[in-house]
Amino acid sequence: MKIRAQVSMVFHLDKCIGCHTCSIACKNLWTSRRGTEYMWWNNVETKPGTGYPTLWEDQGKYKGGWKHGKEKPGLLLQGRAAAFMNIFFNPFLPSIDDYYEPWTYSYRDLFDSPHGEDQPVAMPVSEITGKNMEIEAGPNWDDDLGGSYIYAAGDPNMKAVTEEERRQMFELERMIFFYLPRICNHCLNPGCLAACPAGAIYKRAEDGIVLVGQDKCRAWRMCVSGCPYKKVYYNWETGKSEKCILCYPRQETGQPPACFHSCVGRIRYLGMLLYDADRIEQTAALPGSGLVKGFREIVLDPFDPGVIKKAGEDGVPEQAIKAAQASPVYKYLVKWKLALPLHPEFRTIPMLFYVPSLLPVTASVRNGLYEPADEFFGALENTRVPAAYLASLFTAGDSSEIVAVNKKLYAVRLFKRAQSVGDVDRKKLDRLLEEAQTTPEEIEEIYQMTSLAAYRERFAVPPFMREQAIEAMEDPAARKGDAGAGFISKMKRGW
Ligand code: SF4
Ligand code: SF4
Repeated sequence: MKIRAQVSMVFHLDKCIGCHTCSIACKNLWTSRRGTEYMWWNNVETKPGTGYPTLWEDQGKYKGGWKHGKEKPGLLLQGRAAAFMNIFFNPFLPSIDDYYEPWTYSYRDLFDSPHGEDQPVAMPVSEITGKNMEIEAGPNWDDDLGGSYIYAAGDPNMKAVTEEERRQMFELERMIFFYLPRICNHCLNPGCLAACPAGAIYKRAEDGIVLVGQDKCRAWRMCVSGCPYKKVYYNWETGKSEKCILCYPRQETGQPPACFHSCVGRIRYLGMLLYDADRIEQTAALPGSGLVKGFREIVLDPFDPGVIKKAGEDGVPEQAIKAAQASPVYKYLVKWKLALPLHPEFRTIPMLFYVPSLLPVTASVRNGLYEPADEFFGALENTRVPAAYLASLFTAGDSSEIVAVNKKLYAVRLFKRAQSVGDVDRKKLDRLLEEAQTTPEEIEEIYQMTSLAAYRERFAVPPFMREQAIEAMEDPAARKGDAGAGFISKMKRGW
């Protein structure tokens, strides 16, 4: 066992209002430079929809992530040898049409136009060519329209639902969408890192943040293809790739990332996880149905005396262990089993997690009147987003995990309704708690963290100290090539 610490985030999707404040905070801070106009290190998509860049989930098109095979997982893109052979031609990159041509407006025309009969107009101007252009796409082109047939139909996850479910999803009274905020997942088995022929990408040992070394990047752009989440972008001005840095300069001074700090819905939770670096390869090789369980098992119990002792021996600072014990991410992921990884089947072992939206049909329109559903479980089986769709997003197709999460989320809602409104049948509620495998005590904890948590409960990460990172890198076990330590030190050196 080789224990490492990882900063991790949970997004509670039921709380996201799709305001894009997170995206703008990130853009203002990091990507308002020339060459970064089209970069959205944080973006918020409407689902069902095709996302940004278009169809990023379609690995038939982009070849991102790892393939599952009898032997250890290999990159879908190509092996190291093939990467050198194909270094001058990579056909699996998103094109400008998959992103959009960034533009501004000719604002000066509003002031400088000569006197005339008509109001002056600020025309859109391409930020690449400087010429006037027609706007045909943008970073949130399908914002709030994702649920409509025209955009939802192209969503790769729609392949998982039945014809009947698809028909129901597009019925006017059931039509639905929800928001999916996305940043780099700071994966344990990053496709971007493995695909880079220049060894420019590395993962920091002390907090697991994945970074692109700007001095080493040679613009091959294999990382852009290798990342199945399309969260590395190429800066056409500097000729280097760039990506989300999880605001490490802010975190090193005890501040949360800008997206977290600005989040209006308070949907984000940032915390530490302790994990076993020796199990990365084994976890990435699990069959689809075992991936979510494998993700929970690679994360270690921060209260276990054996884990605490070994973490100390492996150079994890005491403050990181304490932070892992207070981690809201550990609670959502392991203790309550409510948080799920995004597309675990890409096998990069993403370290950001999502509590899926619970959208039960609790009422229906009959004869023009709104009528409540009779049965709790009927409402759950009838969720407006089918379990198969959410399973395609979060559990590699295992609907039973989604149903288990939904039951618990629904139990929380009805338990609290019984307390505050008092119109829930006690026997039915007891049966729901039993089915959801939860207790009133656990429900109160979940409710507290979801609805009432203070800033310090949602952000439980200590300031990082770079000198400790250097110690971790100089760990003698790492120099000897001990498997787990070697893995991390290779990552730090960029393989
Ligand atoms: S999500 Fe981030 S760490 Fe994971 S493969 Fe993509 S760029 Fe790399
Ligand atoms: S700021 Fe928060 S609530 Fe608003 S879109 Fe971003 S994640 Fe959602």
